[in-house]
Amino acid sequence: MAKLYFHYGAMNSGKSTALMQVAHNYEERDQKVMVMKSSVDTKGDAYLVSRIGLRRKVDVLLQPDDSICEKMGNLTGIACILVDEAQFLTARQVDELYEITKRIDIPVICYGLRSDFKTNGFLGSIRLLELADELEELITICRCGKRAKLNARKVGGRFVKDGDQVAIDGNGDVTYESLCGKCYLKYVGSILKESIQEVPEQSFEKVLKLTK
Ligand SMILES: [Zn+2]
Repeated sequence: MAKLYFHYGAMNSGKSTALMQVAHNYEERDQKVMVMKSSVDTKGDAYLVSRIGLRRKVDVLLQPDDSICEKMGNLTGIACILVDEAQFLTARQVDELYEITKRIDIPVICYGLRSDFKTNGFLGSIRLLELADELEELITICRCGKRAKLNARKVGGRFVKDGDQVAIDGNGDVTYESLCGKCYLKYVGSILKESIQEVPEQSFEKVLKLTK
């Protein structure tokens, strides 16, 4: 039985590069793949672009209200479906991909971010984490040398905590930096919601004093 895979990682963990390598591996053995990405990611338009300079045209560019089944058409001879920027899929599109693996028996490998710059899940990623038969984390490194797990957004070079969930890297003065949890809290700030009585730093300072 074919599986739904979710390969997730922070920004710059080489997700598009990994996808293009997998596509190349299939094609080297004369097997066809179908490559999709969400149109929400406007970077590269209908192309996948990797940070190390690889490019590849996508076969299916998905709008948020598209049915994947209707959009992809004939799957004859397709050995694998590869999806980039899968965090931008809708929950329903992920459900469709899951059913494709089980009903049509074609493996689907999705690549995407787990969480946004506020550490909250994207709709597509949440559904993928719920449904994927196999999860794999792609690794990237924080400025401190540890594994980076979180995505921090910068506007004009400064870390920001507010803004829309989606702002594409390189649009205007938006950039991203992958950080480990410790560095995220240090440079971006607490992830606790503001509704609690004390400001987060004070609560943790208390705990820290007690712990010492
Ligand atoms: Zn760090």
